[in-house]
Amino acid sequence: MDYNQFFTTALDRLHDERRYRVFADLERMAGRFPHATWHTPKGPRNVVIWCSNDYLGMGQHPKVIGAMIETATRMGTGAGGTRNIAGTHHPLVQLEAELADLHGKEAALLFTSGYVSNQTGIATIARLIPNCLILSDELNHNSMIEGIRQSGCERKIFRHNDVAHLEELLRTAGPERPKLIACESLYSMDGDVGPLAKICDLAERHGAMTYVDGVHAVGMYGARGGGVAERDGVMHRIDVLEGTLGKAFGCLGGYIAAKASIIDAVRSYAPGFIFTTALPPPICSAATAAIRHLKTSSWERERHQERAARVKAILGAAGLPVMSNETHIVPLFVGNPEACKRASDLLLEEHGIYIQPINYPTVAKGTERLRITPSPYHDDGLVDRLAEALLQVWERLGLPLKQRSLAAE
Ligand SMILES: *Cc1c(COP(=O)(O)O)cnc(C)c1O
Repeated sequence: MDYNQFFTTALDRLHDERRYRVFADLERMAGRFPHATWHTPKGPRNVVIWCSNDYLGMGQHPKVIGAMIETATRMGTGAGGTRNIAGTHHPLVQLEAELADLHGKEAALLFTSGYVSNQTGIATIARLIPNCLILSDELNHNSMIEGIRQSGCERKIFRHNDVAHLEELLRTAGPERPKLIACESLYSMDGDVGPLAKICDLAERHGAMTYVDGVHAVGMYGARGGGVAERDGVMHRIDVLEGTLGKAFGCLGGYIAAKASIIDAVRSYAPGFIFTTALPPPICSAATAAIRHLKTSSWERERHQERAARVKAILGAAGLPVMSNETHIVPLFVGNPEACKRASDLLLEEHGIYIQPINYPTVAKGTERLRITPSPYHDDGLVDRLAEALLQVWERLGLPLKQRSLAAE
C-alpha cells in the first residue's frame, strides 16, 4: 500500500483548484505596527501588513507587552495543567471576571482559542438541551458549524441575515421545541452586521436561546469594546456571547460569557474545555491589560473607523471594486482564484504590501477577494501607496476598474 500517494493526490487536487495555500513567514516589529520583516527564500524584506486581525495593534501595545513580561517573570510561562488539575491560576480567574464584566454577564469561561470556544461551547450547550433544534446562519464560521455537527442535534440553516426566513423556521418548529439560534454579530469576509435586535425579538417571541459569535467586533464596537451587541444595546438579551482574545485584543484565547448556570454547565461538561491545558498566565495578564485599556480608551476605536473609511474612500475613488459595507473590513472583489493569488503575489513581491488572497473555501467560489484590514496605525502615506500599488496590479492583470468617481477625488 502506497500511503504517501493519498497525501500527494490530496495536495495535487488543491494545486489543480488553485487553492493550495502558501504562508508568508513574517516577523512583526513591536512598536512599528503595521511594518514587518518578510523572510523570503532570497532573504529578509520590509513589508507593510494590510490583512492582520490584530485590528487595533493591541498586540504591540506597551501596556499589553508589559503585562505579559511582568507576569512571565513573576509566575513563569505555562499554566502547568488542565483547569481541574493545578492549571487554574489567578490571572486566568481575573481575566474571566474582566470578560464577564465587559459583556455584563454573570460569568465567563476561557478556552484555548475562539475556535475551540465555538466548537466545544455550542456542542455542549446544545447537547444539554433535550431535543434541541439549532438554527444557524448560512455564513456562520467553520468553528460554529463544527460545534453544531458535534452536538449531534438537528439543525436548520437560515439564509444569511434573513430574519423572515429565521422566523419561518422558528414557527415551523413550534413553541414547545427547544431552539438555539446561532449567528455572528459581524461577518468578517463581507464586513456586514447581523440584525441582532430583530434576532433577539424573534428569539423572545418564539422561546429560543441565542448564541452570538462576536469575534470580529469585541474590542472594536460599543463604548467599552463589548462589541456590536453593546453598541446596539442588546447585550442583555443575548444568552451566550462568544469572543476571541486573538484579534482586537492582540493575544490568544477564546471565551463565552453568559448566565452563571450556563457557564458552570459548560465548565463541567465540555470536553474541549476539560481535557486541555489552561492558557498561560502571561497571556491571560496581557489579554486583561488589552481589555482594560479598551474599556476606557476610545482613541483606537475612533481612529480605526476613520482609517477604514479613508481606505474605502481612496480605493473607491480610484475605481477599485470595494465591496461596500458599514464596518472596518475593506473587501476588494476579484472573483477568480488565480487572479486573486496573482494580485497578492505582485503586491508583496513588487510593492512590499502584504494582503493574503481569500479564496474558496473561506468564501464562495466566484467571490474571491483581497480582504484589507486598516488599523489605527495605517497613516495617509501608507493608504496612498496602497491605492497606487493596487492600481498598478489591477492594470497589470487586466482586472476591471469601476468608473472613477470625480466627486470623491
Ligand atoms: C477567527 C474566528 C474564530 C476563531 O477565533 P480564534 O481565536 O482565532 O480561534 C471564530 N469565529 C469567527 C467568526 C472567526 O473569524
